[in-house]
Amino acid sequence: GPAPESDTDARAWLARHSDGFGHFINGAFTPATAGSLFDTNEPATGKPLARIMQGTQADVDAAVAAARAAQESWFAIGGHARARHLYALARMVQRHARLFAVVEALDNGKPIRETRDIDVPLVARHFYHHAGWAQLQEREFADQVPVGVIGQIVPWNFPLLMLAWKIAPALALGNTVVLKPAEFTPLSALLFAELAAQAGLPPGVLNVVTGDGATGAAIVAHPGVNKIAFTGSTDVGRLIREKTAGSGKSLTLELGGKSPFIVFDDADIDAAIEGVVDAIWFNQGQVCCAGARLLVQEGIAQDFYARLKRRMGNLRAGTPLDKTIDIGSLIAPSQHERVRKLVEIGVKEGATCYQPDISMPVGGSYFPPTLLTNVHPASTVASEEIFGPVLVAMTFRTHDEALAIANNSRYGLAASVWSETIGLALAVAPALKAGVVWINSTNLFDAGVGFGGVRESGFGREGGREGCYEYLKPRAWAKRVARKAA
Ligand code: NAD
Repeated sequence: GPAPESDTDARAWLARHSDGFGHFINGAFTPATAGSLFDTNEPATGKPLARIMQGTQADVDAAVAAARAAQESWFAIGGHARARHLYALARMVQRHARLFAVVEALDNGKPIRETRDIDVPLVARHFYHHAGWAQLQEREFADQVPVGVIGQIVPWNFPLLMLAWKIAPALALGNTVVLKPAEFTPLSALLFAELAAQAGLPPGVLNVVTGDGATGAAIVAHPGVNKIAFTGSTDVGRLIREKTAGSGKSLTLELGGKSPFIVFDDADIDAAIEGVVDAIWFNQGQVCCAGARLLVQEGIAQDFYARLKRRMGNLRAGTPLDKTIDIGSLIAPSQHERVRKLVEIGVKEGATCYQPDISMPVGGSYFPPTLLTNVHPASTVASEEIFGPVLVAMTFRTHDEALAIANNSRYGLAASVWSETIGLALAVAPALKAGVVWINSTNLFDAGVGFGGVRESGFGREGGREGCYEYLKPRAWAKRVARKAA
């Protein structure tokens, strides 16, 4: 096969920061101080990759102060000037696309094919799209003002893409940001901040503070922050909602999911099989909107499973920089253990487990693509988010039964419906309790369309006009006009 992607540039950048990465505050890296550093690991090998600061209260204070100081002038320069900055960020990402793709693959363990062809292009697109909203702001949002300083906390599964979803709308509309990447995957955010400053983004507009949940909690509690935008687990989301209650802070939460993937007996089966592969094995299933529950109409179920198993046998697992692979490493041994345990529970509860006989790399946190059939809709694996490459399959007879099983979830992020009968698909789609419904497709992310959940998947939208409103607040204007005596 082709030679693996070169990591020379990424390693050179890491070597320049071999004493450790400081936080990125007010346009520059802070010094990395020995006592506060921890190692991050390369998931695919388990080897140390970088040294990162554990952000303290003082670091968060400094970042919030920088963001506060920059906010008024960042809004005052106007939409056209901000649009120029967002276009510059989009072009910066494109210019350094390869470096970003490699850094992200090393840091997260996901295939370079995904970071190169999906994450990085979607990031650039997000900045281009939101440059447009910045340009239109004075006209389209004339009765709105920015929220102010935004605390943004993101997870490890799409580190750079989640950064883009968070900061592009916030910055476009005149807010400034303190962002905390996940402790497993801080590198693309630090690289982005460094290159953004080189691309002319004014100091203080984007600040990156690294660290774990304690650093996140300090951002959530900070009185100088006007809004928290969080993507991550439902448990932490619930905690943040409690902590911000009564504080006056706005809040949006993008949380977990257990999305249904519904295949009717008249579906285009070949397309649906490829859809399943994308729905559950993209990013090793570590996707909030993963189509993790396969619902197949009874009459075609056995044939569908047989074809799916054959397709699973063609998936290739390998190291992230191998350009030919479909399956990389899970994020960490802890996640591997969690997935392994849940599969074990599934089997104990009566499911049949299938894993293809494909070669898996040694070392790292690799987990094989897994199909669980004979799954009871009320079992643990049918209801809990696994966040790994594990598909649970169930059958249904009627469209009512499909809806009942699909909606039997505490989550409601996404859903996918497969049928060649447009009337059927269009009848089922609106009855699904999900923030986004894909018909004969899956994982379509567009910067122009609001993405987000219902129920315990959270609230708020990212992308499109609806996403802009999350970073604006209404401002009513009233004026008393004195009447002149006639
Ligand atoms: P997590 O909730 O543990 O961590 C997410 C982020 O929150 C990290 O940066 C972490 O450091 C920080 N954090 C942890 N405790 C905190 C606290 N007390 N206060 C403030 N911040 C805190 O989640 P994870 O394990 O990193 O990510 C996986 C989860 O994220 C999954 O459940 C997945 O479904 C969800 N997710 C949702 C979306 C979406 O758009 N809905 C996207 C990606 C991931």
